[in-house]
Amino acid sequence: MLNVPAQAFPAPSSQQRVAASGRAKVPLKPGRSLMDWIRLTKSGKDLTGLKGRLIEVTEDELAKHNRKEDCWICIRGFVYNVTPYMEYHPGGEEELMKAAGADGTDLFDQVHRWVNYESMLKQCLVGRMAVKPAAAPKEISSALSEEKKQLNGLLPEKVAVAASAKDLTPSYDWFQTEASVTVVIYAKKKDLNAESVIVDCQDKRFRAELLVEDLSYLLQLDLMHAVQEDVAVNIAGKVGKVEIALKKKGNIHWNVLGHPLESHNTVIRCTDRGLFYRRCKLVSKAEVTHDTRLLCLMLPKSTHLQVPTGHHVYLKQLIAGTEVVKPYTPVLPSLPLDSKEPAQQDGACLYLMVKMYSSGLFTQALDHLQIGDSISVSNPEGNFKKSQVQTSEDLFLLAAGTGFTPMVKLLSFTLAEVSCLRAVKLIFFNKTEDDILWRDQLEQLALKDERFEVEFVLSQPTKDWVGKQGKISSALLSEFVKRSRKDSKVLICICGPAPFTEQGVQYLKDLGYSQEEIYTFTA
Ligand code: FAD
Ligand code: NAP
Repeated sequence: MLNVPAQAFPAPSSQQRVAASGRAKVPLKPGRSLMDWIRLTKSGKDLTGLKGRLIEVTEDELAKHNRKEDCWICIRGFVYNVTPYMEYHPGGEEELMKAAGADGTDLFDQVHRWVNYESMLKQCLVGRMAVKPAAAPKEISSALSEEKKQLNGLLPEKVAVAASAKDLTPSYDWFQTEASVTVVIYAKKKDLNAESVIVDCQDKRFRAELLVEDLSYLLQLDLMHAVQEDVAVNIAGKVGKVEIALKKKGNIHWNVLGHPLESHNTVIRCTDRGLFYRRCKLVSKAEVTHDTRLLCLMLPKSTHLQVPTGHHVYLKQLIAGTEVVKPYTPVLPSLPLDSKEPAQQDGACLYLMVKMYSSGLFTQALDHLQIGDSISVSNPEGNFKKSQVQTSEDLFLLAAGTGFTPMVKLLSFTLAEVSCLRAVKLIFFNKTEDDILWRDQLEQLALKDERFEVEFVLSQPTKDWVGKQGKISSALLSEFVKRSRKDSKVLICICGPAPFTEQGVQYLKDLGYSQEEIYTFTA
């Protein structure tokens, strides 16, 4: 599996070091990196002890394999011998042992449901559970129906669902003209925006996901006929209606919209919906600093996707035959210097600011992408809600290194759209001057907008540096994070290496800020 950077299992104890993902990590021994694991899985070594056989595992049998030297774990009905993986697990053996001899699905999902464990642990597969544990996503409402023709198309026939869920269940219809087919989703909820809908149409496969609060409504069909590449999405947010216009290839009358695919017309929690990836083309790569690049990835014309402020996407690449996945936080092409206007996003591209580590598994592969190459990009994820900042009078942003990335859209949004905002202060920690991302732009923004202030703090400055130096500390924060007036409503956002973030939160709490006043960006 592994897709990933981070560990595949439950969060470790607080004494352990916390990883880039925000989860604790333990130092791995030399020769136990992700790349070393990939090599071992390709070596042909028998990693299950079953000489290639797959067996049916009973619950009693599973329970017997509960020791470090003989540890089986069940994930979604499949049983893996994770003993060979113990030393390679970034979250440590202790974390894996929490699910030893048992069903680890929930623990796994709590940490990294996006980790592709099937790929990473495939050589450790022992077999299936004889009685499959219930671990399928919980469907809140299924309106999957036999097709019911009405007007020109389909309306979902509701199956029995809880009354409250049923009330919330969106529905859809479709109509056609000679040249187009339009799918209409009725959200049963007002205040939709461009971020509420994600549409992909690849060949005849049509997928539309509506995100309303923490629920996801999915349409997924094999269309009756192929359509042209460009898709137009019109969101009538005030009335809770979404229109997705597809262009026909030729003037053919469609009798039905298409054939339902898996999970079509269902409502489940967003966190239970698997991540969907589409291929995006690298269209430009610009230098930001000596080791950081601004990548522009073009979405397919048939995709409608906007990443909400403070949310990240996952990039997926095949590295040495294994799918590796890492999170990145989209930024804007530049900081909006006219901060009274919301930054315009044309929606066609995603901009990522990525630090390329010389020993980084994923970033080295990313840095080798050529203009025109493609890479898989997931749907967005994240917990940040704009409403958290909408009533703030003072916003403090604490960023370290690429922890600056979520601050970009946040700055743009608050300066343009939060009317009660009095002050936004960014304190930006870096090693050296050469590491400061978008320094000129930040200084220009501070000159243009009197509400915005930026302070750079260097941990490894040259002797010419006249600014602040050091690391995040209580003294620094007490000077920096000050309410503009007594009792003003404050939000403090923190992002950087996980230990930086953890320390920051502790110092802020010690200074009397409440949990509600602090938001940490993590995976
Ligand atoms: P690895 O192979 O995992 O590590 C190799 C070496 O690189 C390490 O030994 C270490 O020396 C160095 N290194 C790797 N990762 C880190 C790290 N996180 N901190 C310090 N040193 C490290 N990164 C961006 O550049 N831009 C973003 O927008 C961005 N957004 C993120 C959003 C989230 C939610 C999270 C959790 C992380 C984000 N990251 C971002 C970090 C990113 O996901 C990867 O961790 C990073 O690109 C390194 O991956 P790698 O495979 O190249 O390094
Ligand atoms: P970096 O250059 O290594 O460090 C930036 C600054 O932070 C430096 O001044 C550094 O000081 C300081 N620092 C590092 N570790 C610290 C610690 N343990 N305690 C206090 N200060 C510390 O940072 P980077 O390589 O760009 O890494 C950025 C991090 O942000 C990554 O871990 C990435 O995963 C994370 N990130 C998270 C998200 C998210 O969760 N949404 C988004 C983007 C990035 P020193 O000189 O002492 O090292």
